[in-house]
Amino acid sequence: MPVGIVHRDAATAEFFDGTARGELLIRRCRACGAHSAPQARACPRCASPELSWTAAAGTGLVVSWSVVHVKGGPPFVVGIVELDEEPWVQAQIVEVAPEDVHGGMRVRVAFERPEGGEAVPVFHPAS
Ligand SMILES: [Zn+2]
Repeated sequence: MPVGIVHRDAATAEFFDGTARGELLIRRCRACGAHSAPQARACPRCASPELSWTAAAGTGLVVSWSVVHVKGGPPFVVGIVELDEEPWVQAQIVEVAPEDVHGGMRVRVAFERPEGGEAVPVFHPAS
């Protein structure tokens, strides 16, 4: 599985504390309650910079995807998933053949723990 090794920094430490617990954390606006993507720095609805972390349910729909071809390995799929809470997150889509991925496909998060790196979210078909 070609999930890359990622390391935390100050901006991502809380996110990876979440993935280590098996939680996909997203941002929630303290002012209006809107959800936004983990990397958001301000609320997309009201522009408030006061964002807290909250655990997403971990389910969503594939919005778009691309098949990545690598030399010497099987192709893999990177997709954009619209979470049920609305934010879009980019992650690898696993456990499905690239040709079987389709828009609107229901997916659920799981976590891969590459040796030496942080746990990273991936999505697989929700059945
Ligand atoms: Zn807001």
